[in-house]
Amino acid sequence: MQQRVDRLRAALAEQDLPAMLVGAPSNRRYLSGFSGSYGWLVVTSNEAFILTDSRYRLQSANESPDFSLREIVSPGRAMPDLVKEICGELGINRLGFEASHMSVAEHSRVAAALGDAAELVPTEGLVEGLREIKDAVELAALRQAIAITDEVFEAVAPQLRPDHTESEAAWMIEKAMRERGASSASFSIIVGAGLNAARPHHHPGDEPLGEGRTIVIDMGALVDGYHADLTRTVVLGEPDSRFRAIYDIVLEAEKKAIAGIRPGIFAHEVDALARDHIAAAGYGDCFGHGLGHGVGLDIHEGPSIRWVQPGATSQPLQAGMVTTIEPGIYIPDWGGIRIEDVVLVTENGHEVLSKAVKLR
Ligand code: ZN
Ligand code: ZN
Repeated sequence: MQQRVDRLRAALAEQDLPAMLVGAPSNRRYLSGFSGSYGWLVVTSNEAFILTDSRYRLQSANESPDFSLREIVSPGRAMPDLVKEICGELGINRLGFEASHMSVAEHSRVAAALGDAAELVPTEGLVEGLREIKDAVELAALRQAIAITDEVFEAVAPQLRPDHTESEAAWMIEKAMRERGASSASFSIIVGAGLNAARPHHHPGDEPLGEGRTIVIDMGALVDGYHADLTRTVVLGEPDSRFRAIYDIVLEAEKKAIAGIRPGIFAHEVDALARDHIAAAGYGDCFGHGLGHGVGLDIHEGPSIRWVQPGATSQPLQAGMVTTIEPGIYIPDWGGIRIEDVVLVTENGHEVLSKAVKLR
């Protein structure tokens, strides 16, 4: 935890910022360990404060022992008052804030409290950038979330019957994840059967799984705040004639992309490895979303593995990044196929963290 705060301090120093106010829940948790629903951090070059209210007095002391508590009491000692107090005590005249997360209302309250004493300086992606490289504690949680997810897929898939509805299947998966120690599903589980499989983010409903058609299952377990993300496409009974051909294209696209993952390759180059394969097979128009996304304290975080405009570039992958690779082909009058695994970028290449069995 201390190393994470030190990395932020180095990033702040580069931007000539003596302090930063952090409120986005995942950024707050990453830096402090605090998992409560309400609170702010003020990180300076040599001090670290947590601002929260009496509901979290004990929890914040327990989870964030390196942060000094300044208790929010409203009215009277609201967050902006405490920020002003800290800036005054430490002589801080420039305070970074998270431009992508702070509301306009919060910003105006803090700006009003600070007045001329300190300037609020917008920053973007500072903590998110640190979070892209996972440390050992994070990798352990991710591995556990992914292992539970894999195990549940393999346990539940053989139990699925054609008369189960999508929602029933989603609940079987969620229940099994909780039984194995997940704190919850890491996102609303997707089960899309038949034509619904053509909708990448379909919300499960009363549609029966049926026989001989594609069923896209996108699922993940949450462990210690870390998200797993796995997609498998299955068929109950005999698949129709198109299934095998399209499945093989998606699987081959995934394999090509994963094979290219190593430090230094640009994110859009990895995307192209899969996208070009799908396009060459004639299905370029049927793969509309990015190839993958980082996973960690958020289900979608950096790095973003997607195409860029001609002439533009993306970020190079680095060892310690964890990303999904999830090509898909979606055909509105037929169904869809997506395969998704989580991959760790290692010093020498990559390690596929997801182990759940695939159709071959
Ligand atoms: Zn997914
Ligand atoms: Zn995903």
